[in-house]
Amino acid sequence: MSKPAPLRPVKGMQSMYGEEADRFAYVVETFERVRRLYGFKRVEMPVLEQTAVFARTMGETSDVVGKEMWSLESRSEGSLTLRPEFTAGIARAFLSEGWQQHAPMKVATHGPAFRYERPQKGRYRQFNQLDAEVIGSDDPLADVELLAFGSQLLAELGITGVTLKLNTLGDSESREAWRAALVEHFSAHRDELSEDSQERLEKNPLRILDSKDPRDRPFADDAPTMRLTPQAEDFFDAVKAGLDASGIAYTLDPHLVRGLDYYRHTAFEFVTDQLGAQGTVIAGGRYDGLIEALGGPHTPAVGWAAGIERLSMLVDSDAADALDIAILPMGDAAKAKSLDLAQTLRRGGRSVELLTTGKMGKRMGRADQAGARFALIVGDDELQKGRAQLKHLKSGEQSEIDFADLVKATS
Ligand code: ATP
Ligand code: MG
Repeated sequence: MSKPAPLRPVKGMQSMYGEEADRFAYVVETFERVRRLYGFKRVEMPVLEQTAVFARTMGETSDVVGKEMWSLESRSEGSLTLRPEFTAGIARAFLSEGWQQHAPMKVATHGPAFRYERPQKGRYRQFNQLDAEVIGSDDPLADVELLAFGSQLLAELGITGVTLKLNTLGDSESREAWRAALVEHFSAHRDELSEDSQERLEKNPLRILDSKDPRDRPFADDAPTMRLTPQAEDFFDAVKAGLDASGIAYTLDPHLVRGLDYYRHTAFEFVTDQLGAQGTVIAGGRYDGLIEALGGPHTPAVGWAAGIERLSMLVDSDAADALDIAILPMGDAAKAKSLDLAQTLRRGGRSVELLTTGKMGKRMGRADQAGARFALIVGDDELQKGRAQLKHLKSGEQSEIDFADLVKATS
């Protein structure tokens, strides 16, 4: 019988171990801690939604709906799609799960999202997002609080060199007028634009501003900017004043747009110069039109999403889980006792690894390699005395400690 062909991972889908996985976990743990500081409640969302949830909200002309969705035909429920983002599904749940009674609600979640894109550094077909949303508030201070949350998250992750780019997409009225001005501007250069942008011209000219194609950049860069209605102007002023009052720095970028149709007013991105074209680490804005697009009542909302893999690439590698104590028992009786000690230490909040096999020198080497702060040596002698040898690995200092005092001695 011939050997079966080796199995390979699906293109653009990663498995992680070691340092990479540690940094990923560190990003998620930091997010979980910071979202509590801002009073965002955790929600859990399904990975599959009806395709219409995304098609209706993200816009047929968006890259995501147009070419990046992973869809499948279900036997009983028609077309379903693996979520390419969280926002649309959360908005769906807001309507279908009776969450309207909690409005305004501040929610956060994280998990995998799927987009059929060309895989490259910082761009995968299964990637992971952190997500934060405030649904049911038209207060510009909701935008400010979300931005403060994003900014503190980056600071606590130790990520520096990030710029908050800020823009407003206006209300529907300012947006329609701007759209017309953009169609006029780009039509004058139609033949010089990329094929994609020629196609976008009538359907979604705002997207040309967001184009990464060098043929589009010159025309995108000197495109007309939006003229705001007084109401839209007031809203944006309030967001900027709130950021100033919160001590959060930002750069105005009149050409910043979001790729999706549902945005109004505030649009923002936290951008680093360290990841090339994949430099956007947090992106979001206000989406006052989205819940209506799903058939719900007018519901103002604002949110952001962040790519966990991109954030992970920017955090320090010593985010690895630290090991407090490696226990090295000698002999069967000591081995049994070491199980008891390990449990006592873990219940006391210490991380413990039991190294029970191999020569003592080898085991010491493994304890070092695992980055343990202490090695705890238990032999027959120690058992008799009810004590163990505790060695601080960095200094080499060693002392004999009572079993009962080990938690205290390893603080
Ligand atoms: P980009 O312009 O880089 O394609 P986007 O505008 O499509 O990003 P959003 O829809 O705003 O991205 O998603 C929010 C965040 O999710 C992005 O800022 C990024 O950090 C991350 N992200 C989006 N797509 C991918 C992907 N394919 N792989 C990894 N991370 C991604
Ligand atoms: Mg994209």
